[in-house]
This record gives sequence, structure tokens and C-alpha cells, in this order.
Amino acid sequence: MIKAITGTKDILPSDISKWYFLENLIKKIFSKFNYKEIRTPIFENTSLFARGIGEATDIVSKEMYTFLDRSGESLTLRPELTASVVRALIEHSLEKKQSLNKLFYIGPMFRQERPQAGRYRQFHQFGAESIGSNDPLLDAEMIIMAFDILAQLGLKNLEVKINSLGVPSEREDYKNVLREYLKSHLSNLSEESKKRFETNVLRIFDSKDERDIEIMKHAPLLINYLKDESLSHFETVKSTLKKANVNFSVDSSLVRGLDYYTHTTFEIVSKSVGSQSALCGGGRYNGLVKELGGSDLPGVGFAAGMERILLACENENVLSIPEDKIDLYIITLDKTKSELSYNIAISLRRKNLTVELDYLLRSVKAQMREANKLNAKYVLFVGGEELKNNEVVLKNMLNSEQENISLNEIEKLIKKIGE
Ligand code: ATP
Ligand code: MG
Repeated sequence: MIKAITGTKDILPSDISKWYFLENLIKKIFSKFNYKEIRTPIFENTSLFARGIGEATDIVSKEMYTFLDRSGESLTLRPELTASVVRALIEHSLEKKQSLNKLFYIGPMFRQERPQAGRYRQFHQFGAESIGSNDPLLDAEMIIMAFDILAQLGLKNLEVKINSLGVPSEREDYKNVLREYLKSHLSNLSEESKKRFETNVLRIFDSKDERDIEIMKHAPLLINYLKDESLSHFETVKSTLKKANVNFSVDSSLVRGLDYYTHTTFEIVSKSVGSQSALCGGGRYNGLVKELGGSDLPGVGFAAGMERILLACENENVLSIPEDKIDLYIITLDKTKSELSYNIAISLRRKNLTVELDYLLRSVKAQMREANKLNAKYVLFVGGEELKNNEVVLKNMLNSEQENISLNEIEKLIKKIGE
């Protein structure tokens, strides 16, 4: 038997209501903030991600699904969407039509990681990008939107962490300070961090290695090397969050190792999912649009993992999805009348009612069982004595009331059921 690829998951009909609920909430909240959806292709030229995410990142250096197509071109299944969104913005000159572009997306992403709870090889993200303004209110807006979506799901054990990376020149100065500090600890760092000392020293803060963590605890902090402008940007983000009642803590180890990241970075973690606790992450990327060949436009965004969010909801037992129901189940009493039942079903469905009937020539008893299983609000009996008078019998399953309705009065039927 051929099975699904390791790290991928079927979303079965029994789970789909949760996904619809989450997707609808995401779309609702983004639209309240006037973000418009953008849908970009599932695959792109590999160089887009190499440049847009950065060669030194885990994603590009070890997680991408990259392959040569039949004409020998290197393509990659999208591991995240910021680079694609920026590419689309540049390609369609969206900034000429709209000086601030507020965009959101929902869809599958692909990373070849070790599968475990909350970590898959095909997973789903939603996220937003706001491109064209350096206003710190937009940094705060990202965090507020992400927080509101999680909070409206009912999640409680949330922790919002924020940090500021300042601007590249401040970061360059700081990197020297950090390297200076680390020099005397170099032999005690993990192998990975020794490499990062050369390639991407800030990322040593991301290390999960106990020894590294201990050393980094005493490291000088970037925040102390930021100048007034960056500090004031950060202050505005913080005061805006406070006014919006979003509790947060400043976590100076929250770094993104890329040169075009600027100012705010943030993460929201849930204390009710195991070790894969980050539900979403984001930040400002003022250098990215230019890096990808566009004009020098500032941007800020975030991405959130939908499987992890649903896992957190499950663990906190907060998603109360109403039970599936149908409006009507048609029970055919006399098999020779199946076609009539079918035609009634078609016309009622065209009037916006959810209608099911039997396709398996089941007994009346079995059809009744099916009607109950599907939570039918009404049942319609077609056949028998009543049909001789051109009538069908409508039964309200809630109060068991029955009523004969003439087939010439189909409008009455629709009205009754639709109530
Ligand atoms: P992590 O540290 O957990 O690997 P990340 O820094 O790689 O996360 P981002 O690239 O910022 O994550 O992606 C944003 C969100 O997407 C994460 O917070 C997480 O919820 C989700 N996510 C990332 N990778 C996966 C994955 N392999 N499976 C499921 N969800 C994921
Ligand atoms: Mg990762």
C-alpha cells in the first residue's frame, strides 16, 4: 500500500470544521485591519529563497525542498511566504498603485525537518506583510493581529516576546562587541555555535545547547547599543501594545540573523504545547525589498503555524465547533419513487438548503438511522399513501411534528425548512 509522505498529513472531513473555523477567523480579523489576501505559487526559483531568506539560515541551508525540473532549472517548494510576497509586489509594481500595501496569506509551506508533534514537512501558515512604511504602529499592528486571532480562538497560555534589532549599522557595531565577549569563551561553545561565530554570530542566541545558553546569559545585549532613533521606535511599539492590552515581555535573545532585519522582532509562544511552542514569529525587514531588486521600501510581517495553533486549542480544549447538521434528509418509502426524491433534493439544494438522500437503496429503517446520524433538522417522506394524493410528509426532528405538504406547494416546504 502506498502511504502519505513522512511528515505530511491528511486533513480528514472529521477535522475540516476546525480548519474552516480558523481560516474564517483569520480572514475576518485581517479584513478588519484592511489587509487583502495575496495568493502566490507553491514553487519559485530557488534563488528567490536563497536571497530572500538567507543562505546562512536553517531554512535555506538544510530544510528546503529543492529540485531540478525537466529543463534543468532549480525550483523550490516555498518554505515560507515573505520572499514570495515581496517578489510579487516588485513584479507587479504594487507599490505604484498603493503606497502602503497591507497583504495577508494562508496556505501550505514545505520544509524537510524531522517530523514530530507540531513539526511537519508540509504544514500551513497564515501571515501578513505590510510594505511601504516604517511606522512603528505597524510593527505593533502585526503583534496585535496575531494576538487577537489567538485570543479569539480562546487560547489563554500565551506569551508575547518582543525585541529590537535596531538598524544594520548598530548591529554591525554590536556584533564586534559580541565577538569580543565570545572570544574568551570560544573553546566552550558548541560546534554549531563556533561556526556561527564566524558566519552569523547573532544566531548563537538561538542555540538550544546548555553550554551556549549559559555563556549567552552573560553576553552584552544589543539593546544597549541602539541609538535614540531605534530606541524611540521600540518605545512606540511597546507603548502601543500596552494601550492595546497586549501583555508582552522583552526578550533580548530573540534575534534574526539577517542583515535586512531591522527594529522589531517578536514571537508568540504557547505554554500548552510541548517543545514546539512557537505559534508565530515575525518582525520588521526594512532591507528586504531592495535586496530582492525592488525599491528601498520598509516592511514588517509575521507568520503563524496553523497545525501548532490547532494543537494548542486542543490542549486547552477551547475550540467549540458546532456539530455538523443538514437541513433535510429525504426518505424514499417506495424504491420506484427514488427519482422523485432525487429531483426534490436537487430543487431544494438550488434553493440553498442542505439536503441528503439515500443512494444505496437502503431500507426505510436504515434511511432513518442515516438521517439521525447526519443530524437532519427535518425528514421528508416520499412515497406511500400520501404520494397518491400528490403529497409528501415533512417531519420536524426536534419536536416530531408532522405535516402533509402538496408537491405543488414546494415553496411552502422551502419556507418551513429554511426557518
Ligand atoms: P521553529 O523554531 O519552531 O523551527 P521557525 O523559526 O522555523 O520555528 P518561522 O519560520 O518563523 O518558524 O515560521 C513561523 C511559524 O510557522 C512557527 O512559529 C511555527 O508555528 C510554524 N512552523 C514553522 N516550521 C514548522 C513546521 N515544520 N511544522 C509546523 N509548523 C511550523
Ligand atoms: Mg524552524
